[in-house]
Amino acid sequence: MVKSGVLGYPRIGADREWKKALEAYWSGRLGEAELHEALRGIRLAHWRKQRDAGIDLIPVNDFSYYDQVLDHAAMFGIVPKRFGYAAREGESVPLPVYYGMARGTAEATASEMTKWFNTNYHYIVPELGDSVPVLTENRPLAAYREAKETLGIEGKPVIIGPLTFLRLSKGYAPQEADLWLNKLLPLYVQLLRELEREGVRWVQVDEPIAVTGLDEDELRRLRAVYEAFAAAVPKLNILLQTYFESAEHYAVLKELPVQGLGLDFVHGRAANVRAIREHGFPQDKVLGAGIIDGRGIWRAALGEKLALLEELTAYVPQERLIAQTSCSLLHVPVTASRETELAPVLKDALAFADEKLAELVQLTYGLSGRAEAFAPEFAESDRAIQALRGSAERNRLDVLQAAQRIAAEPAARSLPFSERHPLQQRHWHLPILPTTTIGSFPQSPEVRKARQSWRRGEWNQAAYESFIDAEIDRWIALQEEIGLDVLVHGEFERTDMVEFFGEKLAGFAFTGHGWVQSYGSRCVKPPVIYGDVAYIEPMTVRESRYAQSKTAKPVKGMLTGPITILNWSFAREDLTREQIAYQIAYALRQEVEALESAGIGMIQVDEPAVREGLPLKPAEQADYLAWAVKAFRATTCTVADTTQIHTHMCYCEFHDMIPSIEAMDADVISIETSRSHGELIESFEHHTYPLGIGLGVYDIHSPRIPSAAEMTAMIERALRVLDPQLFWINPDCGLKTRGLPETEASLRNMVEATELARAKH
Ligand code: GLN
Ligand code: ZN
Repeated sequence: MVKSGVLGYPRIGADREWKKALEAYWSGRLGEAELHEALRGIRLAHWRKQRDAGIDLIPVNDFSYYDQVLDHAAMFGIVPKRFGYAAREGESVPLPVYYGMARGTAEATASEMTKWFNTNYHYIVPELGDSVPVLTENRPLAAYREAKETLGIEGKPVIIGPLTFLRLSKGYAPQEADLWLNKLLPLYVQLLRELEREGVRWVQVDEPIAVTGLDEDELRRLRAVYEAFAAAVPKLNILLQTYFESAEHYAVLKELPVQGLGLDFVHGRAANVRAIREHGFPQDKVLGAGIIDGRGIWRAALGEKLALLEELTAYVPQERLIAQTSCSLLHVPVTASRETELAPVLKDALAFADEKLAELVQLTYGLSGRAEAFAPEFAESDRAIQALRGSAERNRLDVLQAAQRIAAEPAARSLPFSERHPLQQRHWHLPILPTTTIGSFPQSPEVRKARQSWRRGEWNQAAYESFIDAEIDRWIALQEEIGLDVLVHGEFERTDMVEFFGEKLAGFAFTGHGWVQSYGSRCVKPPVIYGDVAYIEPMTVRESRYAQSKTAKPVKGMLTGPITILNWSFAREDLTREQIAYQIAYALRQEVEALESAGIGMIQVDEPAVREGLPLKPAEQADYLAWAVKAFRATTCTVADTTQIHTHMCYCEFHDMIPSIEAMDADVISIETSRSHGELIESFEHHTYPLGIGLGVYDIHSPRIPSAAEMTAMIERALRVLDPQLFWINPDCGLKTRGLPETEASLRNMVEATELARAKH
């Protein structure tokens, strides 16, 4: 009979108890033994839950004390020298060293953190460099034993496969890949041998890298690795697991000497089904069919899913089929059952991790001819999905038409930059190398407290607004005194740059408990785009207009762009992401126009998250970038020639994105620069950037106050490749997480550095 399987379960807990335990340990409120105890409790509860739901293949070693990639690095003794710890075989890396790698120590900077494929989860990048890999401990084995001994669960250890681990690591040259693989391979073999000896039945070896396309060398390594495993552990069943997209090289994967192949039939459905139809599925393998979406929050259409599973049984008999989540459930919140505040039409259509466990089991029953056991669930899934589809919120003709108009229009400003730039110069009279900031200023405890009091209803609207206005007053005066040229109001009224807008637009909902892990102990609660997105009333005009009334200098209006809002939300799935982006763009355009009518002549539309939506398949990236750029332009294109549109980007590598950035046609872009270690500046050597641009002159992630000399050096370096007539001076990003003293001091130094640079140009 078909089995059910889970690829990974969220570690944070329904009350974020995992996060709380980690943070208590870091702050010294919890000892190490207590931390182990607390996390063990969470881990066991999660296994129990999956067992009680009826899941057959329950993952073990998916749990972590921070991040699964960091775990793997620590397990293999990959600890950079700067942490002063030499890993030894059979000795687990001490917790302070482990957390040091994640978060930095007094002596050593943290390892780099980056996005896990195209999700909003961030992992710690292993640094192979100066490390000497050894097997410090067999984490999957320990987890397997724990599940078995305490709960009698026959767990499925999960590990990151060698190809993926190697590709995600840094600290080696491309030609050293084989060398490193040869160092890692014996550790993998040792680990797998111990699992085999223990009697483990299935091991899930994650190779998501196999959806991105492997070159010839990687394909050769792939074969070599799995042949080595087959020879070393002939009795162990390996489920080679891919996810987030269809597998590239299906024909190669299916020939590998592994016992199972896991494919994503949600995000790579069409191509994976096609591959199986064309090439068949090997008679000696199990198919892990990822049919329940591990990343989306929506209830599955069980009837359709069942039909897909039935289709697959034409190629793989039921006994060799596992109905699985499409990827780890790490990317969805724990349970929708607590969302009692949501409208029923929305709530009924949600399925978070726990609801997905139930769906999997229902599908296995359905496939083995026992659907009647869950007849009400099948009917309810259909009803809930139809109800949301038919809801008024999803059927706004005005929004549909507006999005269609945007799709059809060129979305261009009335004049090209070369012609509007002189008009803007004459209009604004800015000095050469104008100075500005990115938007937010420090959110002091008082600001946060005021917002809480207002949200709880202890403060009325007027009291809250006058508090915000007082903050604006203070900061306008300070910005003038420091000598900045283009001011901002400071964003004191915002908690978060997406939530703030989502709360004011139609089509968004906010869960009460829909937390997901973003990185380490940091969790986010993404808004849910469940209906047609539409403008209701001005969202930022009051504060911007107020700030502008307090100064003769220009104040930039400040919005979050359509792509960032989309990429940081859980979006509906009945429309394409492009269509949703145009809906948001149309709504934001109305805000841009409202700001302009209120006398705000510089408007910044932040798009830090553009890269986060980049498809994993290179062939699909150009299309995504084209509509992402178009959505930005649609938001900003209707303003007057003299109105100056700014944008801002951060968090990522931009050097390969410059053509798209240019196509956004923003009059000025500010880009985070310091973390790219000069790479970004270099990329402008080969590309003359023709619009206004500010490369951040200092890192805002650190409380350190950069000297004027340091920033002058940054400016000089940038001006070697960029036109001084188009260059702006600004920090890397918003300053909301910084303290007042360092913010003020840094900005004063920034203005001083600018004056030095101006004297030379
Ligand atoms: N305007 C926003 C701010 O300054 C931009 C934040 C961001 O880029 N993440 O806070
Ligand atoms: Zn930023």
